[in-house]
Amino acid sequence: MTLEAVLSKIDDSLPQALERLMALLRIPSISTDPAFKADCARAADWLVEDLKSLGFEASARPTPGHSMVVAHGGTGGPHLLFYGHYDVQPVDPLSLWDRDPFDPELQDTPKGKVIRARGASDDKGQLMTFLEALRAWKAVHGTLPCRLTIFLEGEEESGSPSLIPFLQENADELKAQIALICDTGLFQDTAPAIVTMLRGLLGEEFTIHAANKDLHSGMYGGAAQNPIRVLSRILAGLHDATGRITIPQFYDGVTELPDAIRSQWQALAFDHATFLGDVGLSVPAGEQDRTPLEMIWSRPTAEINGIWGGYTGDGFKTVLPAEAHAKVSFRLVGDQDPHAIRIQFRKWVEAQLPADCTIDWKGHGNSPAGVMSIEDPAFEAARAALGEEWGRAAAYVGCGGSIPIAGYFKTYLGMDAMLLGFGRDDDQIHSPNEKYDLECFHKGIRSWARLLEKLA
Ligand SMILES: [Zn+2]
Repeated sequence: MTLEAVLSKIDDSLPQALERLMALLRIPSISTDPAFKADCARAADWLVEDLKSLGFEASARPTPGHSMVVAHGGTGGPHLLFYGHYDVQPVDPLSLWDRDPFDPELQDTPKGKVIRARGASDDKGQLMTFLEALRAWKAVHGTLPCRLTIFLEGEEESGSPSLIPFLQENADELKAQIALICDTGLFQDTAPAIVTMLRGLLGEEFTIHAANKDLHSGMYGGAAQNPIRVLSRILAGLHDATGRITIPQFYDGVTELPDAIRSQWQALAFDHATFLGDVGLSVPAGEQDRTPLEMIWSRPTAEINGIWGGYTGDGFKTVLPAEAHAKVSFRLVGDQDPHAIRIQFRKWVEAQLPADCTIDWKGHGNSPAGVMSIEDPAFEAARAALGEEWGRAAAYVGCGGSIPIAGYFKTYLGMDAMLLGFGRDDDQIHSPNEKYDLECFHKGIRSWARLLEKLA
């Protein structure tokens, strides 16, 4: 009964909710460009005022960079922390925009109404779904649904330089039962999804040296070692005929998918023909006994990202190069240890070097995979709430990109995080003509209302 009242309130006040989002979108809060520092402060202040109007005790807290908006409100029930970010990506090249990126407009498109502006989807439209759900709740109930902390960052699009110190200094204040992070999307535009797996990343670069200078193949060819040939042979052995990675102990810490998750993924009916077809491919190239979704979400990879050496210019040069180079990266899952894999990979390569070859290594970044615990009852409540709103079962999914904030909440606040959002693949976040579907904004607000009803 009261849920129906809250949902009706959301439907009836959608035009006003849209006006508020437009007002926030008009503030060009580009965090990476110092020219927009005052605008970032203005966006933070706008949110502080909006949160105060909802009954929160809210403030913009200074950092060496842009302010963090922190607000506390409500009592009882679970203590939830909501995270979003109010900063946006730069808009260059401006010439590719159909209109001023900071003059938002509701547009009719063949696929429905969209809100067109920088930040419409990432992340102002998404964070406002939560605040609008709270507004409708408060209008019906007179109070906020439960104890809430709102935490809105202003540096997400510029590397979050102040985030970790801020979390460390304010850990007691920010720690809640669970964090709700709204900066992700629907699965294939229609299925509501909660991201519970994020793959980690490890980067390696190396140079194989042979002769002490470049040689002529007419004079040395046949007798001299060619480092490109050595490098190619080694990298060709990175995978076996079934697609499995051959580095010893590489799969240590890789866990099998629980049956419950496996069946959720089957229910998503992922269309890998379209997924691959969109980029001109047809056959999944990973481990033979794995589904395409497992390949991109729950299995580790080894990819050769670049190989160079010798002569690659116009014409021809019969050179036997003195050195050859490669960059290789690994996507990691489960409990795979990036440091252990770095050591294993280097040992594996070095054991295959023939006489007269030496190697130099350059290590690039490494981060372990993020695997969310889904034990908190909020996860199943969210799955149910999302399923009711979108008319399609919600699934726990993986994500190829990195979303470090979830790991930071775990590390610095000891708190699990639930990543859910209402973006679509064609929102063009970070690109010209960013948009957010009005349907996603509207149903996003309704989804939060349903979830709060279950949790409060
Ligand atoms: Zn974002």
